[in-house]
Amino acid sequence: MRFVKSVDQILKIMNNPEQIRNVGIIAHVDHGKTTTTDSLLAAAGLISPRLAGQLLAMDFLDIEQKRQMTVKAANISLYHEFEGKPYVINLVDTPGHVDFTGKVTRSLRMIDGAIVVVDAVEGVMTQTETVLRQALEERVRPLLFINKVDRLIKELRMSPDDIKQRFIEIIKEVNNLIETYAEPEFKKKWLLDPAQGMVAFGSAKDAIGLTVPLSRKKGVKIDDLIEVYTKGDKEGLEELKKKIPLHEALLDMVVKFVPNPREAQAYRIPKIWRGEINTDIGKAMMSADPDGPVVFFVCDMRWDPHAGFVATGRVFSGTIYNGQELYLINSRVVQRVLQVGIYMGPYREVVDRIPAGNVAAVLGLDQSRAGETVVDVRIKDVMTPFERMRYISEPVVTMA
Ligand code: GDP
Repeated sequence: MRFVKSVDQILKIMNNPEQIRNVGIIAHVDHGKTTTTDSLLAAAGLISPRLAGQLLAMDFLDIEQKRQMTVKAANISLYHEFEGKPYVINLVDTPGHVDFTGKVTRSLRMIDGAIVVVDAVEGVMTQTETVLRQALEERVRPLLFINKVDRLIKELRMSPDDIKQRFIEIIKEVNNLIETYAEPEFKKKWLLDPAQGMVAFGSAKDAIGLTVPLSRKKGVKIDDLIEVYTKGDKEGLEELKKKIPLHEALLDMVVKFVPNPREAQAYRIPKIWRGEINTDIGKAMMSADPDGPVVFFVCDMRWDPHAGFVATGRVFSGTIYNGQELYLINSRVVQRVLQVGIYMGPYREVVDRIPAGNVAAVLGLDQSRAGETVVDVRIKDVMTPFERMRYISEPVVTMA
């Protein structure tokens, strides 16, 4: 199968930050974040030969089982080829709502770009706005996916002209938010230009999607898509699913417009980290230096019955390897890395080392919590953590 890749192939890609992208999906509730993630996972999951049996089994999983898988994964790594070059795209889970626990900010540190999913019927809603605003404030570059185009036709019976007008309105609305909330240096650069392919249109449910450049490349017009839905042409829809799969539209967009970790960290570190950037640590993080001191930011802690606590996070600097001793700044303890892993689709795969720029799954850091900054022991006394966490006593659990 096209997307079955070995760990060795993936490791080669991971050593070159230019071939990595870290992204999230932002959406108002029910606009289609889970369905979009499912379609990406189904089409572009990174599965190693060892797991190939499970991959085949995955084709037979029902929608609910696949959904469980995407909901459970802290990160999903996808493989995508663009203009003949391979890329690893880490899709990090971002909460859809603004909360007061810092979870959104935390996940925004993991990503350099975000696909904003907007239901074509409902348009931009409060959660789209609040999370997009936060993303822009953290210098995360937005791209747009206008989802549920089928609803405009099946439910609202809109004409092709009205549909295109609707697209223009939604793009305008999102661009207004970008103009309002992006910092001056990004305002112009990040405005969504559909002609360049910064906006995808389609249906996550049917896993089809189109951008202007893809439309040219594939010879499929947005009118063809509208016609298929208007006529209820089942065969035509099946053909479109093959010709313009959603993952291609979205992942092309991500590779082309989301900065790679090295480019991104250069302007994001001064924004998302309060330490002194004119230091060896600051410079190592700004250049995603694999030879710098380890700085690993933990975004998610999960219990795995087979492996124990799994810390998923972003390696901002250095290289994490098995057996390494690392210092947990907030917990104030040194712990040894028992195992490092990368994500292959939603699964973890053990590897020897993970360099800066990547999303890593690390075992052995069980004293860590989401939000922890884990560093090279040599910089333990000088490193400023991403977050300062107060440790309070465990809440008392009472049985109902
Ligand atoms: P989330 O809350 O953003 O994760 O949204 P979901 O992915 O769970 O989708 C919410 C609902 O919208 C579900 O019932 C989906 O089946 C439905 N949905 C998602 N994409 C589409 C689409 O392209 N067209 C239609 N008609 N429904 C969709």
